[in-house]
Amino acid sequence: MPEIPDLEAIRGFLNQRLPGVAIERAEYLIPVVFRVPKDEFVSTLPGDVFGETARRGKFLLFALRSGRVLVINAMLTGRFQYLQPDVKRRARTCLVFGLANGWDLRYADERLMGKVYLVAADALESVPQFAEMGPDALEVSREEFAQRIRRFTGQIKNIVVNLRFVAGIGNAYADEILFAARLHPYRKRTLLNEEDIERLHEAIHKVFDWATPIVAEQMREELNYEERRDFLKIHRRGGEPCPVCGTRISEITAGQRITSFCRNCQPG
Ligand SMILES: [Zn+2]
Repeated sequence: MPEIPDLEAIRGFLNQRLPGVAIERAEYLIPVVFRVPKDEFVSTLPGDVFGETARRGKFLLFALRSGRVLVINAMLTGRFQYLQPDVKRRARTCLVFGLANGWDLRYADERLMGKVYLVAADALESVPQFAEMGPDALEVSREEFAQRIRRFTGQIKNIVVNLRFVAGIGNAYADEILFAARLHPYRKRTLLNEEDIERLHEAIHKVFDWATPIVAEQMREELNYEERRDFLKIHRRGGEPCPVCGTRISEITAGQRITSFCRNCQPG
């Protein structure tokens, strides 16, 4: 599942290439991912011009000169590709933009769970999840973070991945963040002190600032990458020695979610 480092790397890649580039052709290939009618998509996008691409939580927001925003949530398996038009299309390529600079921007999605919206810039709240989404995990200040977290009870990992608290943290990076903050994933939020919460906020920046350039490097020239998380320190490393203290890393699977942590560095 693309998380903040993946989406930030894609955003950085596209912002070096897309602003000012016109769409010549818009192909609507697999209808199930679209939350915009086909006619509107294929007839109103050609001629429009890309601006800056932004991100909020796990959504990428492609600003267009017409004042609209193309909003994409890649969910579990969505992948963006920036390729020459003659490169063979991946199975389950859902949409293709033929660009005036001679490149294709494509979106493929193996499990077809992603969603593509086209909305006016002032109507982002109409996109499902936008209205209830908390501030982006990289935008929230330390004070707001500490204030918001008091509204949530239960285990800290569940709170960290809850988009109503802060948006953009998924299962894999939640493990990395809690490891960096030395917090046990199942610890109750009510048992965290001010210092723990401060460390947690710091760890979000530390982990994402570390991971984003690594992911960006993997994407190389064509944005055509397979998701590789083999550089992570704790997530899915159950049974291996903790990189800090050497204790065997614990791994618990609950509800199809894997949680990995070090019982020594992250005491319960
Ligand atoms: Zn450890």
